[in-house]
Amino acid sequence: MCGPACTARSSRRLGAYDDFAHFAGRLCLPFIDVEALIRATREIFEYPMCDRDPLPFWTRGRVTLMGDAAHSMYPVGSNGASQAILDARCLAELLASRPAQDALAAYEAGRLPATAALVGSNRTGGPERVIDLVAERAPAGFERLEDVVRPEEIAAVTQGYATLAGFAVRA
Ligand SMILES: Cc1cc2nc3c(=O)[nH]c(=O)nc-3n(C[C@H](O)[C@H](O)[C@H](O)COP(=O)(O)OP(=O)(O)OC[C@H]3O[C@@H](n4cnc5c(N)ncnc54)[C@H](O)[C@@H]3O)c2cc1C
Repeated sequence: MCGPACTARSSRRLGAYDDFAHFAGRLCLPFIDVEALIRATREIFEYPMCDRDPLPFWTRGRVTLMGDAAHSMYPVGSNGASQAILDARCLAELLASRPAQDALAAYEAGRLPATAALVGSNRTGGPERVIDLVAERAPAGFERLEDVVRPEEIAAVTQGYATLAGFAVRA
């Protein structure tokens, strides 16, 4: 999926305060005037949220894809560059141990489904789903986080994502 913002615009272009004033107005910090801070900014850039549906294949002959070209995803969960690094590690290990054609096939068989799962998870917030959960349950704010969401619920979301993303230390 690639939203209209992605197809119609560059991934980095000048924006305007009015584009996101309705969000900025909701930010309330006791020690800073958020609106004044943003309005005082000379240049505002916009980075549209966009990704792509997983591709059916990455490899043709002796050419394959990796990184964003293979699996651009919403930028949540400190991913994107991290997945490109995991691609590179996987590919380097395979190329060092078997013929190129076999290595490319094994690389795609391992990394394409793994990254496709992340593209899907990132569309629903990835590990940052915890923030949505808290906002849904406590729209008016809260005093103690543990009154809103149990530590096990947080762990289930964040550790589940870490496993999916290949960040889980044990994995
Ligand atoms: C605002 C923002 C924040 C991000 N934060 C994070 C984060 O916290 N953690 C994280 O893991 N990821 C993050 N990412 C995502 C991350 O930057 C990308 O996933 C990562 O850079 C992808 O690496 P890549 O090498 O696949 O592609 P790129 O970094 O896009 O590299 C592709 C390169 O190819 C070059 N190129 C393009 N066309 C041609 C051509 N025809 N000939 C020669 N060269 C060409 C481009 O100039 C570019 O240098 C963020 C991205 C953005 C925009």
